[in-house]
Amino acid sequence: MNRVSLNKDLSLSRVILGLWRLKDWSLSKEQLLTLIEQSLELGVTSFDHADIYGNYECEALFGEALALKPVLRKEMQLISKCGIMLVTDKNPQRTVKHYDYSKPHIINSVNQSLKNLGTDYLDILLLHRPSPFMNAEEIAEAFEILKKEGKVRAFGVSNFNAMQFELLDSYLSEKLVTNQIEISANCLEHFDNNNLDFLQRKKIAPMAWSPLGGGKIFSQNDDRAHTTLQAVQKVADDLGIVELDKILYSWLYMHPSNIMPIAGSGKIERLRNAVDALDIKMSLEQWFSIFIASRGSALP
Ligand code: NAP
Repeated sequence: MNRVSLNKDLSLSRVILGLWRLKDWSLSKEQLLTLIEQSLELGVTSFDHADIYGNYECEALFGEALALKPVLRKEMQLISKCGIMLVTDKNPQRTVKHYDYSKPHIINSVNQSLKNLGTDYLDILLLHRPSPFMNAEEIAEAFEILKKEGKVRAFGVSNFNAMQFELLDSYLSEKLVTNQIEISANCLEHFDNNNLDFLQRKKIAPMAWSPLGGGKIFSQNDDRAHTTLQAVQKVADDLGIVELDKILYSWLYMHPSNIMPIAGSGKIERLRNAVDALDIKMSLEQWFSIFIASRGSALP
């Protein structure tokens, strides 16, 4: 498995396992430990969390599994996120969903993530979504404290545009290491809004969330997904590959941005497909056939 170096001290596995859907997988902690061990064996050593996943419960589920074999912590990289304030039964006095990037909230959220995950450091903390009420100076102060205390090794953002990234980055002594954005053959937004160009210029590898369009790309009821999947099927047939998800992952790997897909399935065979797809090479024309099918019109 190739790895992506984010700074001189930190690298991630090219394929990351995302834990957003962990509660839906209905795994016992022993079964989750097995999934973690199998992921590590595949070379998938990086795990993506957020404070809010599973109504604030997924991190703790992962932590309980990790507690069965704490020695695994040093073999993995843990990513988590903060900032989204859900309206939830866990916090009955909150009535409005909003974002909070105040210094106390960022620090409290990290402390809670560390407790839930049963670890004393995060490898990366991401700000989950850009906020219209973002004080970059205050965020920088929170990052500085967390870094100094050894609680977070590196910082990044998610769903930020280039301007928002630059704003925050300009206040930081240690530069942002990634932007986690939605990229798939079903979501071309960041090819169109220059975010991928911007990140390539900064030599920053993006993480791609929902690399299979959250599964929607396999839907029979969506016209765009259907057309895109037909193009994917043609490439698969031409390359003699049966599993369409492999083609979708390969399409991401082909791009010069060094995209790190975050796989969202708890089924190890699907994670293996994401890894195996690293060996697939499609032609430029095949890459564009999928891009054009998704975009819905020929290139100018
Ligand atoms: P995804 O891998 O695009 O979608 C996973 C879904 O697709 C699962 O429901 C899976 O079902 C289904 N699927 C996978 N292969 C399939 C196949 N061959 N046929 C039919 N269905 C298939 O990723 P995602 O779960 O949407 O997102 C991945 C990760 O990105 C999350 O876990 C989270 O860590 C991160 N994320 C971040 C943000 C953000 O704002 N930063 C937002 C969303 C997600 P099975 O379970 O049956 O395999």
